[in-house]
Amino acid sequence: MTSTPVLSVEGLTKHYGGRVAVDALTVELPRGVVAGFIGPNGAGKTTTMAMLLGLVRPTSGRGTVLGEPLDRPDRYLGRVGALVEGPALWPALTAFENLRVLARLGGNDVGRIPEVLDLVGLTDRAGDRFGEYSLGMKQRLGIAAAMLGDPTLLILDEPANGLDPVGMSEMRELLGRLAAEDRTVLVSSHILSELEQVSDWLLIIDQGQLVYAGEAAGFAARASTEILLAPANDDQLLTLADVVSAAGLVAGRDGDHLVVEVNGHDPRPLAASLNHAAASAGIVLAELHVRRPSLEANYLRMLEGETR
Ligand code: ATP
Repeated sequence: MTSTPVLSVEGLTKHYGGRVAVDALTVELPRGVVAGFIGPNGAGKTTTMAMLLGLVRPTSGRGTVLGEPLDRPDRYLGRVGALVEGPALWPALTAFENLRVLARLGGNDVGRIPEVLDLVGLTDRAGDRFGEYSLGMKQRLGIAAAMLGDPTLLILDEPANGLDPVGMSEMRELLGRLAAEDRTVLVSSHILSELEQVSDWLLIIDQGQLVYAGEAAGFAARASTEILLAPANDDQLLTLADVVSAAGLVAGRDGDHLVVEVNGHDPRPLAASLNHAAASAGIVLAELHVRRPSLEANYLRMLEGETR
């Protein structure tokens, strides 16, 4: 990673009539990361990507992509590869023929075709017609096409959308392979768990507005750890709640469990001391475990406004 951002936007906004699709987005993306661009349906991901690609004109705001101004896409698009709204390839042509046409149209080296086919794992299927490909193979070929120009920035809009679990896991592996020291990948999804394993950076938006931008690890660290407790005898739940309060902790009830927010304590010794305190009060615990909410849970809570 270098300090020069691969893209930087300030106050980026798009209105469609009275509807605000993207609302004053200010964000920077460092070089060399796989950035998961996450937000629920209609959050403004496609519109943002379309503005970065010069396909949609911003209502207001400014920025740079690969050091060039956003309103001069002609200066940077040669170094950007993109897959937006699925690949538009010719069904009757084979994968290889499709890439050859695109390479010629785009002024790219036809000699790169074997390399990009290999990258997306389609070397063995290069002679099959695109129309006969599965959805996952179509998406991967679309990425191969976007890689023809050896881009510095790769923008992929929901490449895993509609894929079955196998297709999704292949897509994740591919995304990991696309990252390189000097290549940045911006990839969108409305499901955080689709991308959490491969993203080292996260941009999260909701209703056109930025909710989180930063390292994926930093987002994970926001998730608050909880301890779950359940007495063997349900009648002792209230007594157990008193034991927790006496330890200076706040417990919430969730069915026949108590949920204790850890709030910065080391959870394991805390769980051990709660176990000891419960035993001293004559309560046998049937369950005691530390729960670290998934990134997905943290994301959903963030969208609900709990951690904003
Ligand atoms: P999805 O995950 O469903 O693709 P998204 O995050 O990509 O959603 P956008 O497609 O950017 O969201 O849409 C953002 C908002 O802008 C939505 O309310 C959408 O209806 C609206 N919108 C998008 N394109 C247009 C358009 N061409 N004309 C009018 N409204 C539009």
